[in-house]
Amino acid sequence: MRRVVCPGSFDPVTNGHIDIIGRAARQYDEVVAAVLTNVNKRGLFSVEEKLAMLRECTANLENVQISQFNGLLVDFCRDNGIGAIIRSLRSVSDFDYELQIAQMNYRLAGVETLFMTANPQYSFLSSSLVREIAQYGGDVSSLVTPDVEQRLRDKYKDRDSS
Ligand code: ADP
Repeated sequence: MRRVVCPGSFDPVTNGHIDIIGRAARQYDEVVAAVLTNVNKRGLFSVEEKLAMLRECTANLENVQISQFNGLLVDFCRDNGIGAIIRSLRSVSDFDYELQIAQMNYRLAGVETLFMTANPQYSFLSSSLVREIAQYGGDVSSLVTPDVEQRLRDKYKDRDSS
């Protein structure tokens, strides 16, 4: 059984994430999309909301599980029998950062990192940009699922009225 993890903040999950998770699911027996829950990475959405959004948008992928982790990703991999981490590269700047983390994870625990190139259709897309556009009422309908779009609308409505 070849099980891999797609880790991330998913704040919120975007069509770029869904593309990578779906492509990974076609290559491996099981894919675990895991939300990082470290307290120093507090985001716009709670961990529960991130998990719910991920569940919703991967419901059609039978071999994808949704999970969460805090602490070291390599410990999560060991505890869950995961042999490799999937990360995606959108640009050269992603690579600089990812290379260092990948080498460290291998050094720490012998866990491999496998890189997938981002779909060019989404390589400009990041959760932070989606948040920024949504915050100012911009149209994110081609960047996230309708469920995520609605949650963004609700989130910023709550904020505006508080
Ligand atoms: P992190 O804070 O760990 O980078 P993200 O949620 O931003 O968490 O990203 C998780 C993974 O998804 C990373 O491998 C990232 O490169 C990938 N990713 C993010 N946005 C996109 C996108 N638009 N297209 C493809 N991959 C993406």
